[in-house]
Amino acid sequence: MGAAPLLEVKNLVKHFPIYKGWLLSRQVGSVKAVDGVTFTINRGETLGLVGESGCGKSTTGRLILRLIEPTSGEVWFEGNNVLSLDREQMRALRKDMQIIFQDPYASLNPRMTVGDIIGEPLRIHGIASGREREKRVKELLEVVGLSSYHARRYPHEFSGGQRQRIGVARALAVNPKLIVCDEPVSALDVSIQAQVINLLQDLQEQYGLTYLFIAHDLSVVKHISDRVAVMYLGKIVELTDKNSLYQNPLHPYTKALLSAIPIPDPTLVRERTLLEGDVPSPINPPSGCRFHTRCPVAEEICKHQEPAFEDVGGGHYVACHLVKKSQ
Ligand code: SF4
Repeated sequence: MGAAPLLEVKNLVKHFPIYKGWLLSRQVGSVKAVDGVTFTINRGETLGLVGESGCGKSTTGRLILRLIEPTSGEVWFEGNNVLSLDREQMRALRKDMQIIFQDPYASLNPRMTVGDIIGEPLRIHGIASGREREKRVKELLEVVGLSSYHARRYPHEFSGGQRQRIGVARALAVNPKLIVCDEPVSALDVSIQAQVINLLQDLQEQYGLTYLFIAHDLSVVKHISDRVAVMYLGKIVELTDKNSLYQNPLHPYTKALLSAIPIPDPTLVRERTLLEGDVPSPINPPSGCRFHTRCPVAEEICKHQEPAFEDVGGGHYVACHLVKKSQ
């Protein structure tokens, strides 16, 4: 039997209520942002979580850390039921579960020095104070490829890539076990993206970190992920190890996302699958398979019956009626 996963997410749901009427007193519907998501992450592993904007991937990351409260479902971290913890227990657990945000401009307080930003989690968790905290901050700056003298500067004095390094240092300060990387490179220039991804990979090796790496593009997570989950309209539609996903994608949505990635070799031609239409509204998702309104191979059954999310062999999970038929 393998070791227990570090993180286990079971049937996680987040429906944001929509209110209307006088003093917003009447609930008229809900945004089904996350609608029954299940996955595990093993220690030292990186799980890539990918999908178009609005598919619920960032909400999933925030639900795991309880930055927003789930509607239902379960989150287990090292055998602890995260959703049953009280405020004090949750505060202690946050030391082990950190987040790096997408926007390195908005996520750093412009009025705080970099030293105070990185030192803040050390203060909140009572880990280090005074000289000891200063020393730790300087060490962290060097770990992420900045210099100790940067501690006295303010966020506006740094480039986007450097700011994201500050965000990484802040997340690392409390020696976390899991880091939710919420589109950490999406706001950066392509040339800088690889540097930040390489840094995250080096730190993972050095400190045995576990990552949930959220991105809207399959090419971004390719190098860093061990396994990849693809989300569409609040649900995971495919989850498998990296090689299977990129070499043998089974879900039509994954195939379409992959076909949109340019191939660097001009002699190779890849068949493009263009997705028609926009992502439907999560307020009123399509019946049956949620992808049926855009799926190039949809059949009648797809409109009425939701496909189960099942292991079709070797830990390759897919939710598609046609894939099951061909097994
Ligand atoms: Fe397409 Fe049907 Fe499979 Fe959904 S279940 S992905 S609509 S073929």
